[in-house]
Formats: sequence, structure tokens, C-alpha cells
Amino acid sequence: MNKYLMTPGPVPVSTEVSLKEARPLIGHRGSEFSELFSNIEAKLSRLLESGGKTVIFPASGTGALECLAANFTGPDTKVISVSCGVFGDRFREITALTGAEIINVDVTPGEGVSPSVAARAVEENPDAGVLLLTQNETSTGVFNHIDEIISALPEKNRPLVLVDGVSSVGAMPCFPERWGIDALATASQKGLLTPPGLALVWLSERAWKTAETRKCGSYYFDLMRQKKVLYKDAPENPYTPPVTLYYALDAALDGILEDGWFDLRRRAARALATGIESLGFDLLVRDEYYRSPGVTAFSLKSGDTPAISKALKSIGVEPAGGQGQFKGKLIRMSHYHDVRWPEISLALGSLYAALGDARQSAGDFMAAAFGRWEER
Ligand code: PMP
Repeated sequence: MNKYLMTPGPVPVSTEVSLKEARPLIGHRGSEFSELFSNIEAKLSRLLESGGKTVIFPASGTGALECLAANFTGPDTKVISVSCGVFGDRFREITALTGAEIINVDVTPGEGVSPSVAARAVEENPDAGVLLLTQNETSTGVFNHIDEIISALPEKNRPLVLVDGVSSVGAMPCFPERWGIDALATASQKGLLTPPGLALVWLSERAWKTAETRKCGSYYFDLMRQKKVLYKDAPENPYTPPVTLYYALDAALDGILEDGWFDLRRRAARALATGIESLGFDLLVRDEYYRSPGVTAFSLKSGDTPAISKALKSIGVEPAGGQGQFKGKLIRMSHYHDVRWPEISLALGSLYAALGDARQSAGDFMAAAFGRWEER
């Protein structure tokens, strides 16, 4: 039986990427590795539309978040943490471990962060040095409009804006330099369409300057150690990098950089959401403006959502379930990879099959989804 991975990370990796990963290893202190690293840096600069370089090290997304916390927060820092779900909470927890004072701003899971909520928290805490945001809250499928949030912040005493982009970068626009993000953390296994194992951190000039003046409590995550070798003519990694994952990332970025990629992801998400609703499911994110281009969360209106997940798995389709307060109450399907009409049909057809006898009529879910797909 064929298996279809629809979890929001890891996501399916293309054959081109897998084949590149199978290439023989090269040493990580030689010119061949530096050239590969430089190519990846150039592609990431195009993706993020930024001149700065991206630190890449072996870790998962949580490691990237921990790196930001270790370099920018500590007992001397007041941090505003805006969370709308499990991953916003995780960023907060990691940061609290550095001894930072945390101001919690909680948004109802399933709803997006409105710019005014973040702006008010910053206005009320002019002594806050750091603001934590999540671009795409994977536990609910909420996409936060980071550009609008940052534009709404007061100009004076603006804290460093640290963004969890673990499940956004690659699948949706994220332009840190243009938007005023100071530090962006991401990982390889979602929007970057690469196997798990690489963490990526991008910093603004202001953040690099701040990192220089702070003592990092971690050896491995110390960004100044990274900077020393990253900015050499022949860039390197201070520690042994997983070279095969660099091959994979280099190849995956070529697909992501194709014209219209973000638009394709958005259209696929809209078509899938429309079909899911037409089948009789409830979408968790009610406001379409905040729906993620990478992952969609839904439940059965009046029924047994975990039974649908189980039925999907029995026919070879693997979605993710709910997390935190939604444990056992949600299905989450991802669409980070090259999901187009055939893959949407597969997802909707499988959901229909999983619904089985629970549903009397087919409805017009395919027609509804196709209508949204065609919509410009
Ligand atoms: N932040 C977000 C938004 C995520 O989606 C995830 C992973 N689902 C993480 C952080 C943690 O990443 P990892 O599992 O790679 O450590």
C-alpha cells in the first residue's frame, strides 16, 4: 500500500532531493563544502529577500528557538511573549528557562494575533527588550501577519522582535529585513521541504550588534562562534555539519524559488479548506485571513474525529492529530510540498472514504474545492 505523509513536518521530500542526499560525503573543512554552503546562503538570501547570511546548524526547530533565547534573553531581560497556541507557549517556556521576566499575552487558539494586541503590550511595557512572535502556529493552522504586527509597534523603545518561523519559512512570504524582524528561527523539515535535522537562524544588523554585547549562556548555540566562520570568504560551520542535509536543502531550495510557489501554496490551502468544509467538517480557523498556507486543522461537526484519523491511516493517509487543548479533537493535514489538484483530490477523496457510512450524500466537495482552486 502506498503511504501518503500529511503531517505538518516532516513533509514529503521530492525524489530530486532524496537523490541528492544519497551523494557521497565530502569533508566539511574543504572548498567543496564551502561552495555548497555559499550556494545555499545565496538561495536563502533570495528566499528571505535579505542581504544578510543565515546561520545553519544541526538541530530541530526547538534548537533554533533555544538558540535565540540563549543569545538574546537572560535574567536581565523583560520579554513579551505573544502566543496563540502550543508552539507560542513552547517559545515562551524555552525563554523563561534563561531567567527572563516574561509578560504573557495569550490569544485564543484558532484565532490570529491582531497587530493591536501586540502593539498594546509593547506600549504598556516600554522596558521590554524582546518580543516573541510565531508566524505560523502549527498546532492550530493559524498564519499570523508578522509584517502588519511589526508595522503597528511603537517606533520608540522597540524591543528586539524574535520570530518562530519554523513552520512558515519556505511556504509563505517571510521577509525579515523588509518587515523589521530581528531574529528568525526556522528548521528544514516543513516549508523548506528537506528532511529533519537542520536549524536555521537569520539575524538583523541590530540583532548581530546586540549578540556581540551579550554573553551567551550556551557554547553550542553561541551565535558569535557561528559568525566567525560564517562570514569567512569560504564559509564553514564551527562544528561537524550533517553534510547530506546540506545537499538536500540546496536541492529543495531550487523548487521553492520557482516563480509563483507561495501563490500555489495559498491556492492549494484555499481549495483544500473549501473541500473539507463541503464534506461537513468544521475548520478550526474561522477567519480565512488567518488560515495557514501550510497546514489546515479541522474536526467533525458532531462526530468522532479520532475515528476519522484512524480510518485515514488504515487507507494509507497519515495526517496529524490535535495538540494541547485540542488533543484528540482535531485532524491536521499539511500542504507544504508540491500539492496541486491531484493531491487535493487525493486528500478529499480519502476523507470522503474515511467518513464512510457517517455521511449520506457525497455533496459537491470536489466541485467546491475545484472552484476555489480556479479562483485567482
Ligand atoms: N515551532 C513551530 C511553529 C513548530 O511547528 C514546531 C514543530 N512542529 C516547532 C517550533 C518545534 O520544531 P521541532 O519539532 O523541529 O523541534
